[in-house]
Amino acid sequence: MPPKIVEVIENGVCTACGACEAACPLNAVHVDLEAQRRDPDNLTYYVHGAACEVCEDCLTCSRVCPVVDGFPEDEFDNVRSFRGGKSELPGQDGAVVSAILKSLFEQGEIDCAVGVRRDENWGVEPFILTKASDVDLSRGTKYTSVPVLAQLKEAMKKYSKIAVVGVPCQAHGAALMRDTMTDKIVLVIGILCMESFTDEALCGNIIPNIMGLDVKKVVKMDFGGGKFWAYTRNGNGEEPEPHSVAIKEVAPLARNPCHHCLDYTSYYADLSIGSVGAPDGWNSIIVRNEIGEKYLNKVKGIEYVDDPKPGMFLIKKLADQKHKNNAPKEGEAH
Ligand SMILES: Cc1cc2nc3c(=O)[nH]c(=O)nc-3n(C[C@H](O)[C@H](O)[C@H](O)COP(=O)(O)OP(=O)(O)OC[C@H]3O[C@@H](n4cnc5c(N)ncnc54)[C@H](O)[C@@H]3O)c2cc1C
Ligand code: SF4
Ligand code: SF4
Ligand code: SF4
Repeated sequence: MPPKIVEVIENGVCTACGACEAACPLNAVHVDLEAQRRDPDNLTYYVHGAACEVCEDCLTCSRVCPVVDGFPEDEFDNVRSFRGGKSELPGQDGAVVSAILKSLFEQGEIDCAVGVRRDENWGVEPFILTKASDVDLSRGTKYTSVPVLAQLKEAMKKYSKIAVVGVPCQAHGAALMRDTMTDKIVLVIGILCMESFTDEALCGNIIPNIMGLDVKKVVKMDFGGGKFWAYTRNGNGEEPEPHSVAIKEVAPLARNPCHHCLDYTSYYADLSIGSVGAPDGWNSIIVRNEIGEKYLNKVKGIEYVDDPKPGMFLIKKLADQKHKNNAPKEGEAH
């Protein structure tokens, strides 16, 4: 029986999370970023593509694939607690993700984390963080998706207390790896996610063509108030200048798997962190299990508010919207 990831790839719903690449014992599968950059719907994400000449059908990849595993029935049935939080660090919102990683590195609770960093052209690459100061390189949201979990192949060889930060599909893949093949992943931090883009769509089209901006001058990107925002550097050290475009102009350009994704809040993570549901400059924090609670209790440097406004109702509303938009249409396989 061939691995089920072949169907996932052929149906164009591979999220490029990278879990199969990390898990495959024979290196038969490799998520090809260059191919992804060229064409969002290109099915040759894979150099080998679970290649028949290499693959021995052990099915390890199928066991860690979030798409094969499927989506949660109710993505709020494991909410253990919900609160707002912020730290003093610079970051996308309240920099709670950065504060968690920094504090756990400083206490020796983790010896490695997998995340992403960007260059001045907003080219994004996954990387392995090994110390508290590496956290400064990873802060800020990049709306380009890259195979974060592929880094786990290397990380699992060298480290034993690994934290993963990723969007829901990546958090799901990491949780499946922890369930089925490794005890080295100690914490999965999932971030909320409505959609992501290829580099080509975001930096090759939306920023330069739709918004008319020079990507090199962009210092921050964000979604909010029905708009996609890009902030550009101002020469005189003043506040960055905001530019926006309606979400409906950019959402159709999201990657194909994102149009089929039914997880908004990283259901399979230990901690889910976003901005929606909390005031500006704060994060919404969902603790989903004992592991999340244990590690969050150890973290220093986060200020909390118990009943943040606008609150959980807004997260549920957006999750509903994502489910309605992406639910399989009649007669469509999912
Ligand atoms: C593609 C995408 C879509 C999102 N959509 C929503 C949304 O609809 N609603 C919402 O409330 N929040 C959304 N977020 C989350 C939000 O933008 C913030 O990342 C989150 O609130 C954490 O903020 P922070 O201040 O703690 O981040 P920081 O402390 O600045 O840390 C950010 C962390 O996110 C990681 N990261 C950044 N970009 C990526 C990426 N592309 N892939 C994997 N990891 C990444 C970094 O490695 C870093 O560890 C989205 C994030 C992404 C990446
Ligand atoms: S079935 Fe096994 S050998 Fe084949 S691609 Fe998947 S993990 Fe690799
Ligand atoms: S594990 Fe991730 S990268 Fe591999 S086929 Fe599944 S979704 Fe794609
Ligand atoms: S919308 Fe879903 S598939 Fe797309 S990046 Fe977010 S979690 Fe992954």
